[in-house]
Amino acid sequence: MNLIFLGPPGAGKGTQAKIICQEFGYTYLGTGDLLRSLVSRSDPLALKAKEFMEKGELVPDSLMVEIVSGQLKTLKNGFILDGFPRTLEQAQILEEMLKELGIQIDHVIYFHLDDAEAENRLSNRYQCKNCGNIYNSNLGQCPKCGGSLFRRKDDEPETIRKRLEVYHLQTAPLLEYYERRGKLKRIDAQGSVEEISGRIKSILRNGKN
Ligand code: AMP
Repeated sequence: MNLIFLGPPGAGKGTQAKIICQEFGYTYLGTGDLLRSLVSRSDPLALKAKEFMEKGELVPDSLMVEIVSGQLKTLKNGFILDGFPRTLEQAQILEEMLKELGIQIDHVIYFHLDDAEAENRLSNRYQCKNCGNIYNSNLGQCPKCGGSLFRRKDDEPETIRKRLEVYHLQTAPLLEYYERRGKLKRIDAQGSVEEISGRIKSILRNGKN
C-alpha cells in the first residue's frame, strides 16, 4: 500500500506512520524529520529551510522539491508520506512524479483533530534526542532508550498558532483535492495510540473505516 498521512500538526501522523511502517515493512518518508536532520548542517540550503521552520511557516515549494525530489524518485511500492504534500503545488508535483514511476497512492488518511486539542498536544510534546520517540509530558529521560528529552523550537505557543494557521490556509485545501480523486479516508485522531493504529489498519484491510 502507498499512503499519504494528512492532518494538522500534533495529530499524531508521525507516530502512527512509524508504527505502520514497522509493522507492514513500508518505507517511511517524513519531510519534517528530513528537514530537521538537514538543518543541523550549515550550508545555504539548510540555513534557508531553518529560517522558515523556526517561524512555523512552510519551506517554499521550490526549495522543498529540491530537498525531496531525489527521495521521491526512488520510491517503490509500500510507503507512507508523512507531511508531504502540504500544498496544492506539492500535490501536483507528487502526482506527476508518481505517474512517471507508475506508482499509485492507495489512500490519503486524514487525521481529524480540532485546533484546541492540537494546540494542547503540541505545547506538551517532548521528543527523545536519541530515538526520536514522542511523549506528551516531560519525563526527563526517554523510557525506551534513556536518551534526553527536548521540546522542539517550533512547539512554542506563538509558533504553534502560526503552524495551525498555515495548515488551514495552505494544507487543508488538499482534503478536497484528494476527496475528488476518491482517495481521502478520514479518521478521528483522538484516542490512544493503539486505537488510532486500529483505525488505520481497518482502512488498510477494508479500504474504508
Ligand atoms: P512537521 O514535523 O511535519 O510538523 O514539520 C516541521 C516543519 O518542517 C514545518 O512546520 C515546515 O516548516 C517544514 N515542513 C515539513 N514538511 C514540509 C513540506 N512538505 N512543505 C513545506 N514545509 C515543510
